Amino acid sequence: MKSVDAHLAEILATVRTLAPLELELERSLGTTLAEEVSAPVPLPPFDNSAMDGYAVRAADVEAVPVTLPVIDDVAAGSDELRAVGPGHAVRIMTGAPVPAGADAVVPVEWTDGGTVSVTIGQSAPAGNAIRRAGEDVQAGEVVLRPGTVIGPAQLGIVAGVGRRRVWVRPRPRVVVLSTGAELVEPGLPLRTGQIWDSNSFTLTAAVRESGGDGYRATTVGDDPARFLEQLDAQLVRADAIITSGGVSMGAYEPVKEALSPLGTVRFEKVAMQPGMPQGFGVVGDDQVPIFALPGNPVSSFVSFMLFVRPALRKMRGLPAGAPESVSAQVTGPLRSPAGRRSYLRGVLAADGTVTPARGQGSHQLAALASANALIVVPEDVTEVPAGASVQVIRL
Ligand code: AMP
Ligand code: MG
Repeated sequence: MKSVDAHLAEILATVRTLAPLELELERSLGTTLAEEVSAPVPLPPFDNSAMDGYAVRAADVEAVPVTLPVIDDVAAGSDELRAVGPGHAVRIMTGAPVPAGADAVVPVEWTDGGTVSVTIGQSAPAGNAIRRAGEDVQAGEVVLRPGTVIGPAQLGIVAGVGRRRVWVRPRPRVVVLSTGAELVEPGLPLRTGQIWDSNSFTLTAAVRESGGDGYRATTVGDDPARFLEQLDAQLVRADAIITSGGVSMGAYEPVKEALSPLGTVRFEKVAMQPGMPQGFGVVGDDQVPIFALPGNPVSSFVSFMLFVRPALRKMRGLPAGAPESVSAQVTGPLRSPAGRRSYLRGVLAADGTVTPARGQGSHQLAALASANALIVVPEDVTEVPAGASVQVIRL
């Protein structure tokens, strides 16, 4: 059997980082920056008021109370400014440029709020409530480096330096394709022998949560020809494909039957539980990576976390490797088959303990949904006593 680590290494050696493209800002959320973004001008571009108040010369408000004539009114966006001479005040709003001559802003709260003349009750030192040009960013300064994931604040600074488009590595487009003659769309009634398709929902959501754009394709039955048709139709819009089901040892394994003859996808046993049967390779002229995951719901999800998620990180241009784990103390005993690495479902608590979920079967989706961690039991360990230290992967 192939080890989990060897399988991941092969996957990471095969998948390629997506080429950069220029995107509208609105479409760049969750992408990875592929260029250095710098500010063409200082930010703020000009000295401006940090508060609503009065622009004055600090020397004129040293002795208070003092009453000054209000010679002008400047709102944010004003560009015709009268200079503030000695003994004058200008009413000023937050974000408005500080007029020449003024060296302090007196907040309106320290005054009587007058519009013709203003009485000031508290002195303001030079520089008070003024935001200086370049205080945030100097002209030419780099604000974001390549490899940064664009979240809301990163989008903000790209817009804040005046950019409309940006070079990024896009979110990988991943098509999820469930196979199984027994599958029925949720919402439709079940007949005997049928179950509702859950994997395609789980996997599409997992793709989205991992920084990709997941597309759920129509479920196909167990006919290899029908599967290939659907795969062909989906390939045009995919940077990667995930299939679920149809890769084990039985009869009616459409994914295995359809892809094995191509010679570019390998079906192997990986030394893990759940999720032993795994297929991986490339398909189509563009050599699109395909992850053929086992059909049991817990198996397909665990396989996603171990193999697909790191691959998506590589495609996004981010550091990629095995999922991070933390140590925890297990509250009950665990069993694991010799020679296979187990990923048991558990609930990790704030006190550093992890409690194994009640149902550890690879079909027990409810137990998975109640868990927040995978407890890792190494290949050579078959029994773990309560109280032992274990490694867990947070979900
Ligand atoms: P397979 O890998 O196709 O042999 O499927 C293994 C088990 O997983 C069977 O019990 C299937 O019914 C179940 N299964 C397969 N695909 C799905 C799916 N999309 N949603 C829920 N269960 C599935
Ligand atoms: Mg099946």
